[in-house]
Amino acid sequence: MTEMLNGIAASDGVAVAKAYLLVQPDLSFETVTVQDTNAEEARLDVALQASQDELSVIREKAVESLGEEAASVFDAHLMVLADPEMISQIKETIRAKQTNAETGLKEVTDMFITIFEGMEDNPYMQERAADIRDVAKRVLAHLLGVKLPNPATIDEESIVIAHDLTPSDTAQLNKQFVKAFVTNIGGRTSHSAIMARTLEIAAVLGTNDITQRVKDGDIVAVNGITGEVIINPSQDQIVAFKEAGAAYAKQKAEWALLKDAETVTADGQHFELAANIGTPKDVEGVNDNGAEAVGLYRTEFLYMDSQDFPTEDEQYEAYKAVLEGMNGKPVVVRTMDIGGDKELPYFDLPKEMNPFLGYRALRISISETGDAMFRTQIRALLRASVHGQLRIMFPMVALLKEFRAAKAVFEEEKAKLTAEGIAVSEDIQVGIMIEIPAAAMLADQFAKEVDFFSIGTNDLIQYTMAADRMNEQVSYLYQPYNPSILRLINNVIKAAHAEGKWAGMCGEMAGDQQAVPLLVGMGLDEFSMSATSVLRTRSLMKTLDIAKMREYAQRALTECSTAEEVLDLAKDYLPEN
Ligand code: PEP
Ligand code: MG
Repeated sequence: MTEMLNGIAASDGVAVAKAYLLVQPDLSFETVTVQDTNAEEARLDVALQASQDELSVIREKAVESLGEEAASVFDAHLMVLADPEMISQIKETIRAKQTNAETGLKEVTDMFITIFEGMEDNPYMQERAADIRDVAKRVLAHLLGVKLPNPATIDEESIVIAHDLTPSDTAQLNKQFVKAFVTNIGGRTSHSAIMARTLEIAAVLGTNDITQRVKDGDIVAVNGITGEVIINPSQDQIVAFKEAGAAYAKQKAEWALLKDAETVTADGQHFELAANIGTPKDVEGVNDNGAEAVGLYRTEFLYMDSQDFPTEDEQYEAYKAVLEGMNGKPVVVRTMDIGGDKELPYFDLPKEMNPFLGYRALRISISETGDAMFRTQIRALLRASVHGQLRIMFPMVALLKEFRAAKAVFEEEKAKLTAEGIAVSEDIQVGIMIEIPAAAMLADQFAKEVDFFSIGTNDLIQYTMAADRMNEQVSYLYQPYNPSILRLINNVIKAAHAEGKWAGMCGEMAGDQQAVPLLVGMGLDEFSMSATSVLRTRSLMKTLDIAKMREYAQRALTECSTAEEVLDLAKDYLPEN
């Protein structure tokens, strides 16, 4: 039966393909008394062997798509599976308690997990607990005859359907086969959306209940530009979606002609168009899309893709690769922004009621717990600084005191490296993200001490509107054109300019085609966005007249009371709107 639904258009692209459900299956079972314990032991052996075969295949695929290092987690799983001590204890339990294999497996693995998890100051054993949990789930699924989803094994054109995708799920998607994804929750600025845009995979998020409506193998049509999703579309609908896909591809080809063009308005004023990246691999997309700089390197992905805190050398290699890949063009590296929806399995942060408002980002870096980790990152950055034009930026700054503490660490580590005879660039700008309203209001004071601002509208809007950026029920409050947000942004830009500093924006708003004219009118210096939005923004800028945009922005700031009024006003200034 054909079903239509609408979600949040999170990443451009149109696709029609088979659904792949990435949802956790029901693994519940009953504990029963058995007479034939030999048969249960035999069932266990079959499930162990099947799990081993399956893991070996997954490992091979992971090596192909993600590399040897990222696949090493599966080696740990294979080791658990082959652990004779654990297997003999499970069999012992089956015999002693005359119980089924499922119960024996669960009792023994739970016992090991509890012991290892209890070793709180031993991260290695804590990781083993996580490995055992994963392996136990896989063996149990085989005992119950239930299939576990695994996105890394997708090898035909598919649309991934999930409740939510974590950044690491998203990173595993092979874009050769995964043509789009659709989720129940999430919005335009959730990290799965940002990664989808980087990977150029179409995405519609926040549909509420797509996982309940779609079955594995259903045909699904997705339009990431409009947010439309059709389950089991008719032939006519498939044709219409394919036409929309072709039209989008044609438009992209036109934008591609601007790859080496300058970014200038109709009357010749230059604005810097930069791109946001999550890993050194993304630099290729930055250059392919003709961006003039990296305006935001989200370094937390380096921490999230790793089994443990990345070492100074590992980080140095990553930063050097990005700086060299950009060939002397500016690279703004943001120090790690863990917390909110970005967790580290090996960093045991306390569970919080409001993680977006909690102990995260720079708050961790300048605390006693985060000090060593932060210094390692700063040292790696300083060492890499000789390979290009590095700029460092701190996330989630609310107080001047926080900036000063972070800057002091930068100065201390710089002095230490110099004393050690290690070369460091003398020309590193140090700035902050403006993503907390307190800092936006006090921008005139911050501007005296920082080298630049980069406005993080994803969080700035979430905090100004008090609306969780992950919650689709309050997504109507994500209002980049609301005059309250525009006034904050204008305040920041003016404050920077008054002190001769520059102001950029690295939140998703910077690449929003309806926001760009207003930001041009307010005099934003640098626009940093998903690499895939750069060329369309360059194309848009060519049509804008500075004097007109200034007037438009001015009127939006002083005369409008709602986002709708602001967009309505655009009609007077943008003929094509
Ligand atoms: C922001 O908050 O706008 C931003 C760019 O940072 P992130 O999306 O990583 O929180
Ligand atoms: Mg942020």
